[in-house]
Amino acid sequence: MRMYDIIAKKRDGKELDDNEIKFFVNNYTAGEIPDYQASALLMAIYFNGMTEKETVSLTQYMAMSGESVDLTYFGNLSADKHSTGGVGDKTTLIVAPIAAVCGLKVAKMSGRGLGYTGGTADKLEAIKGYKTNLSGDEFFNIVNKTGVAVVTQSGNLTPADKKLYALRDVTATVESIPLITSSVMSKKIASGAKNIVLDVKYGSGAFMKTKQDAEKLAQSMVKIGKHCGRNTAALITNMNTPLGYAVGNSLEVIEAINVLNGKQKGDLREISIALAGNMISLALGVSEQEGKIKAQSALDSGKAFIKMREWISAQGGDIACIDNTSLFEQSKYSMQIKADTGGFISETDCEKIGIASAVLGAGRIAKDDKIDLTAGIVFDVKAGDYVSFGDRIATLYSSDKEKLKAGAEIFKSAIHIGGNANNEPLIYKTIK
Ligand code: URA
Repeated sequence: MRMYDIIAKKRDGKELDDNEIKFFVNNYTAGEIPDYQASALLMAIYFNGMTEKETVSLTQYMAMSGESVDLTYFGNLSADKHSTGGVGDKTTLIVAPIAAVCGLKVAKMSGRGLGYTGGTADKLEAIKGYKTNLSGDEFFNIVNKTGVAVVTQSGNLTPADKKLYALRDVTATVESIPLITSSVMSKKIASGAKNIVLDVKYGSGAFMKTKQDAEKLAQSMVKIGKHCGRNTAALITNMNTPLGYAVGNSLEVIEAINVLNGKQKGDLREISIALAGNMISLALGVSEQEGKIKAQSALDSGKAFIKMREWISAQGGDIACIDNTSLFEQSKYSMQIKADTGGFISETDCEKIGIASAVLGAGRIAKDDKIDLTAGIVFDVKAGDYVSFGDRIATLYSSDKEKLKAGAEIFKSAIHIGGNANNEPLIYKTIK
């Protein structure tokens, strides 16, 4: 078999067979196919797409390219969730303990943040002592005992995706539905969960800018998940405005704690119940509605909060700060942003807010950047709220005075007062 012929076949719009896809994935991962040939194939896929059969093969060979996690011991109870990334998205911290209270086993491998969307692993490191690196046995034992563990992705999970994603990033081939599907789903399949709920975001702060594109991606990922033997559902959710009130690592952990202990209601709680409800529905075989009722009761009874304490403690984290959030490390500098006119908040531009928070120090511009865990933004208001002149809109935090100033300039340009807010629903659709 020759890579040249595989490229030419895809270039001409023909369907690749399973062996050709296997040849490409295995030999590219092994370093036997040069980047220039892999790039040519990726571009041909970008233009000609892939059939469902091709996408299944690509996903499966990518999933098998490295180590995988075996969760078969937990039968149908293992569950995972994945978000395509957004600003202020801290739902894993709430959803995982809710699902565990309902008997599910959440063995989650989480990425680190790049750009303005933060990774759950970074957020959890804001809790003193929390270990994001565990041995395979430690990880398994914590999931078995408490129902939840969250760690960083292991070194050799889906090496094919690591290489291909890095190549797509520099060859303008990221925005392809079959390539995104195989990238995300190969990691989910290798992570072992039988039940997978995807949160596919659309809007200015998301990867997919329109509902229509998000729906196409969600449909594709759900189909491939099912083909690979996993119960899969996707929620399509709005990311035109940040989720909740906090953006930034320790600030988001504090907000998640406030939802779990009942102090905060609103959009973050609503989406967490919907995601957990869908995981429960898939794993326990109950309706989505029953799943949501169980999720809500896990929250309202306080059991999900107790579960979070158990989980954090099992991974070495300091429980004192869960019980008293003022014990989280505080940033050195802060700045209040006040309304310069009265009116309804018509826009909180999510992408700009994400960039502002990264500039404050909460995000990474390059892969190895160190992040400021205390930096970020806490809003007092949301899009659609009324403010009078001088009302506080948000407080910005940073450990660096210059970053605080630069972040504040970007933040101010993201907020528009006057006119009507385009308040679309938080959850557009569920795809099953
Ligand atoms: N996230 C991924 O993991 N892969 C993609 O291709 C795009 C976003």
